[in-house]
Amino acid sequence: MAKGHNHFLTEAHISAIVYGSMAKKIAILGSTGSIGKNALRVIDALNSSPVAGHSSLDKEYEIVALSANSSVELLAEQARRYQPRFAAITNADFADELRELVGDLSIEILAGPDSLTEIAQLEEVDILLTAIVGAAGLPAVLAAAKCGKTLAIANKEPLVIAGELLMETARKNGSTIVPVDSEHSAIFQAMQAGAPGEVSKIILTGSGGPFRNATSENIQNVTLKEALSHPVWDMGPKITIDSATMVNKALEVIEAHWLFDVPVEKIEVLIHPESIVHSLVEFVDGSLIAQLGNPDMCLPIQYALTYPARVGGIAKRVRLANIGKLTFEKPNSEVFRALPLGYEVARTGGTAAAVFNAANETAVQEFLEGRIKFVNIAELIEYCLNKHNAKTTASLEDLLQADAWARREVLECLKQKVR
Ligand code: NDP
Ligand code: MG
Repeated sequence: MAKGHNHFLTEAHISAIVYGSMAKKIAILGSTGSIGKNALRVIDALNSSPVAGHSSLDKEYEIVALSANSSVELLAEQARRYQPRFAAITNADFADELRELVGDLSIEILAGPDSLTEIAQLEEVDILLTAIVGAAGLPAVLAAAKCGKTLAIANKEPLVIAGELLMETARKNGSTIVPVDSEHSAIFQAMQAGAPGEVSKIILTGSGGPFRNATSENIQNVTLKEALSHPVWDMGPKITIDSATMVNKALEVIEAHWLFDVPVEKIEVLIHPESIVHSLVEFVDGSLIAQLGNPDMCLPIQYALTYPARVGGIAKRVRLANIGKLTFEKPNSEVFRALPLGYEVARTGGTAAAVFNAANETAVQEFLEGRIKFVNIAELIEYCLNKHNAKTTASLEDLLQADAWARREVLECLKQKVR
């Protein structure tokens, strides 16, 4: 029951039941980030478009929980606006400040990393949108899958680390997974044109990032500012760096492998600088089915929330005549070493992807804080993968250990270099 309602059904609820749509209850993990803020815009728009037969007071999407790591003021602002039942701050140092900022509202404040798992398991949550960044999202997404929730997954790192376990847990517990990542949303939509056994190939597109035409020489001295200037997408800092190194595409190959149960040999990466064709599926008869849209995350976010329905929304229409031409080229695996490494990791399986991801997360943080060069990111990933004895079948414990090992290894390697 929504906050502030008593246990009797209101007229709006009765109308919603009669017309078959009680509000969908959504929790957003990472509501203060790039995906989180876009998701709130999408939900605002969905709630403001009238649905036939419903009272205008009826909200189709109700927000029951929001979370941030340390952006306490923005979280408080969002909480004031959306009045969720729960607001979580994973960095507990900010909990008192949050309590002060929203103390006048009847919102339960949760603090610390475990608060995400708590939210993921709430009975009143129908859809969990995972929009936090990095491996930190793993426990919550696993917990939600165990509870049979619908998962709108933007936070790709847990799928990369523990894709097999997550997909198996979701399957066993009847949890539906809808990807938010634009390429995977495109593939998910294209897949609906045929049966899984009729898929011959997945073609994953990528913009190529800010250094698309770089050579091995001129990529050596790129700056943080250059790496953070993505030519097409406006995203959080970690994924923006991942796009520049092409680690993002490597993560996405692994993500697609688990989401769609397609072997990596059948997943091809194609650079498409205009970022209009978000990915394609080739079927056995040779038909290529693609999904097109402007480079705007609102569309895949909305589709994940309304799936299996499609409704009007805020996404701007693509006008192909204005775009003129769409171009495609092969990625340069010599300059962007992370891409072939990602394929290797996917073929190895087990703990390898956890090491790849953790080494990257740590190295990106070092780069963002100005302690290493751009090219060191891929070098550090490769260093860890070479040193790691991958276990090909891995328990959750093994994956977490591999993750922690790689993080230590990166820092240790950097310490030795300094000496
Ligand atoms: P942002 O950095 O913009 O936002 C991250 C969010 O997660 C913020 O709310 C942040 O809180 C919170 N957060 C950060 N670290 C932690 C932590 N350790 N524990 C809990 N919460 C944390 O990231 P994006 O929105 O760009 O990306 C989110 C995820 O979606 C990533 O996995 C990314 O790969 C994926 N994705 C993003 C796309 C995009 O367009 N941005 C496209 C496709 C996928 P705070 O504000 O307090 O720091
Ligand atoms: Mg993507």
